[in-house]
This record gives sequence, C-alpha cells and structure tokens, in this order.
Amino acid sequence: MSYDPNNIFAKILRGEIPCKKISEDEFYLAFHDIQPRAPIHALVIPKSAYKDVYDFNQNAKNEEIIGFCKGINQVTQLLNLNQDGFRLISNSGVYGGQEVPHYHVHLLGGKKLGPMLFSS
Ligand code: AMP
Repeated sequence: MSYDPNNIFAKILRGEIPCKKISEDEFYLAFHDIQPRAPIHALVIPKSAYKDVYDFNQNAKNEEIIGFCKGINQVTQLLNLNQDGFRLISNSGVYGGQEVPHYHVHLLGGKKLGPMLFSS
C-alpha cells in the first residue's frame, strides 16, 4: 500500500489542522498526542512522507534518518524524559495496531508505565 497524503499527520504537517507543538526542525515535528495514554505522551514524526518505520528505514536518506533520531533526543530533553526513563513505541500495520499511516514514534513517560504488553 502506498503513502496516503490525506492522513491526519500529513494534514498537520501542511498546517491544515492544528497540533500542540513541542518542537520541530527541517527533519521532524513533535507534538502532544491528542489522547494521552501517560502523563507525558508525545509523537515525533518525520517531515517527509513515509508510512511506517520499515518504509522510513528502507527509503529515507541517511541525513533524514539521523535528523529524525536527533529530533527524538531533542524532544526527550525538552520534556525531561531522560532522567527517569521513558518508552518509545512505533506501531506498524494491522498487527501493530497503527492508526495513522504516517511514520511516527510515541514517547511515553512521566510515571512507571508497567508491563510493555498485556498478555494475550
Ligand atoms: P498509532 O496507533 O500508533 O497510529 O497512533 C496514532 C496516535 O495519533 C494515537 O495515539 C492518537 O491518539 C494520535 N492522534 C490522532 N489524531 C491526532 C491529532 N490530531 N493530534 C495529535 N494526536 C493525534
């Protein structure tokens, strides 16, 4: 399946809908999740169009990958996540439960988050 330019994060990147911005540079945009699952719940997305982590790691230029990873660290610093720790999640595809088909990572923190997954 190809990238859908009408997904909600693409609209945020184009300024068509608002977000609670944390920070950005040429490679990434970070904003607060609209439905936080932890006291701190940020989303970091690349500025270019990639549908998931596999697409990004496979097709992005090295400078985009480095810029995005550095962006994640900038956000962890801005939100003071590094001192007590945090969780980074990227959902992909149907089994991963991905809702928005623009690559993003969730940064969750602000309390002990408990087990990574509920047992099935
Ligand atoms: P995922 O299931 O990994 O695709 O996660 C998508 C995330 O995007 C969910 O945690 C949603 O709460 C969040 N989300 C959806 N729409 C918005 C929005 N307009 N602004 C901020 N977060 C959003």
